[in-house]
Amino acid sequence: MSFVERLRAERDLPDEELKTLLETDRFDEELHKTADEVRQSVYGKAVYLRGLIEFTNYCKNDCYYCGIRKSNKAERYRLTKRQILDCCAQGYALGYKTFVLQGGEDPFFTDDVLCDVIAAIRSLYSDCAITLSIGERSEESYRLFFESGANRFLLRHETADENHYSVLHPAVMSLSNRKQCLFNLKEIGYQVGTGFMVGSPYQTTRNIISDLRFMQSLSPDMIGIGPFIPAKGTPFESFPNGSVELTLRLISVLRLMFPHALIPATTALGTLHPQGRELGLKAGANVVMPNLSPVEYRGKYSIYNNKICTGEESAQCKDCLKRRIESAGYEISDSVGNVKRETVK
Ligand code: SF4
Repeated sequence: MSFVERLRAERDLPDEELKTLLETDRFDEELHKTADEVRQSVYGKAVYLRGLIEFTNYCKNDCYYCGIRKSNKAERYRLTKRQILDCCAQGYALGYKTFVLQGGEDPFFTDDVLCDVIAAIRSLYSDCAITLSIGERSEESYRLFFESGANRFLLRHETADENHYSVLHPAVMSLSNRKQCLFNLKEIGYQVGTGFMVGSPYQTTRNIISDLRFMQSLSPDMIGIGPFIPAKGTPFESFPNGSVELTLRLISVLRLMFPHALIPATTALGTLHPQGRELGLKAGANVVMPNLSPVEYRGKYSIYNNKICTGEESAQCKDCLKRRIESAGYEISDSVGNVKRETVK
């Protein structure tokens, strides 16, 4: 059996074999084809749309790679509850069944303020999923958000290696807290997503294998990976982009290791390659995240350089993605797109 066939059958390989698989393009064709077969066996040709609402670019943290870190000069904004609800109304009219509230770690959005927004969305759109992507909070806060109606949470761990984590983040941030947040979210009952940047500064193949091992211990419902793209004004602004090829290879590896995961073809992939998202879908991804933020704010959510989809109205964004999804041979699903969990026999 080839490496790829064994990865498909066992959903795992020893570290050395994973290393070989990740460090060569020799297996790419077989990897992508096999990952697509596995994706189709679980999710068919469906692609789920998640309407992304970037509601604040204030952040109290200073992650060295991030364009909206607190030390970076950026024109800051916060959406009001009314603006957020307007985004949801637009998204709902376009057929989106998931709203992703994404923002920096902004102290303005206390538990009370956020719970009020979440509850308002929940009461208006009982058939939709509400996903939060707002960083680290206490277990109690996560519980309050869940009780208010949020049901999914995205929190990329970014790197599962302690040393590498300390290279990418200031000392006040801790990998163990981040991991604990992810386990707390699972315990509360969220569908949980994690992920990491591919090609972040000083990342090694061993680091990536640690990421895969950590995810095996977490068993996430969603896994988001995208190539690292430097952000102007940050300590890593002169570092090279991550590799599109390696990102696609990893999407396929993830699909084989986690056949039921929801995996987005990320905007970062589309930023580095004109067909990046289509290639992501063909490599095993099954989610795309069209932007629903008001156009006048999109350029300000500049977590990395040259981010695409900042100038189009939401409806244009949807048309563009529909064309891309269909040209890659897949179809938009109008379902809420929950994770399909494996039935334990
Ligand atoms: S990566 Fe997230 S937590 Fe870190 S500075 Fe950027 S927005 Fe804040």
